[in-house]
Amino acid sequence: MQPNAPRKREAEFTLPIGYTDDEGRTHRVAVLRKMTGREEAILADKRNQRNGGKLVSELLASCILRLGEVEKPTVNTVEHLYSADRNFLLLRLRSMTFGAELQAGYSCNTCGDAVQLVEDLDGLPVRMLGEGESPEDITVQLEDGYTDKEGQVHTALTLRLPTGADETAVAAQMRQNASLGKNALLARCMKSLGDMPRHRLEALGPKILSELTLTDRRLIDNALNQAAPGVDLIREISCTGCGNVFKSTLDMTHFLSPG
Ligand SMILES: [Zn+2]
Repeated sequence: MQPNAPRKREAEFTLPIGYTDDEGRTHRVAVLRKMTGREEAILADKRNQRNGGKLVSELLASCILRLGEVEKPTVNTVEHLYSADRNFLLLRLRSMTFGAELQAGYSCNTCGDAVQLVEDLDGLPVRMLGEGESPEDITVQLEDGYTDKEGQVHTALTLRLPTGADETAVAAQMRQNASLGKNALLARCMKSLGDMPRHRLEALGPKILSELTLTDRRLIDNALNQAAPGVDLIREISCTGCGNVFKSTLDMTHFLSPG
């Protein structure tokens, strides 16, 4: 595309996972239109600003014209999309409206120098499920594990992939404290941990996550980043100051503004 060529007002994208309706049909092609003044109002709404999950649902529901055979999907439908699909759609919506170039800033973890660069949102790698493939649970073999009150150690963790409903449910905690918010999110997605009974898992919830060692929490992060479908938001940055190469999550500070 030429740098100044007009971008189309509407475009079609295939979701990394897709939306499965009540009848079991999966819809993977989304038609998006550019953001307008209506979405500016959604972004400016104080109620939405308090809840990041809700904001994304409102924004996407407003801009998705069609999702497979579903015309004008509702906010409720968008809440049921996997976070991987929602993030993918957000990135596409941003590049359609303001362009794919994103000003990003990182801080070197060795010398502390600021690294400024322009990211290409359309060039980020996307892991797509194959045709007819269903998303799989994420399994992680913890190193230290969780010790229950009988002293038994549980190390085999299974998580399902998070959805918009999960994002909305934990938004308040996320806003207050990103680490506690993440515990709440992972607790919602935890399907099994060793042979702990289901009701124990549910009763303990985020407490389990907060007691895991940072070694284990790193293992969970890596498993989610590597195994899950969707856009890979982990960037490898080279520091211009000291030459150090480090990893960081995509800086989205300027995500919803032009250039
Ligand atoms: Zn450096």
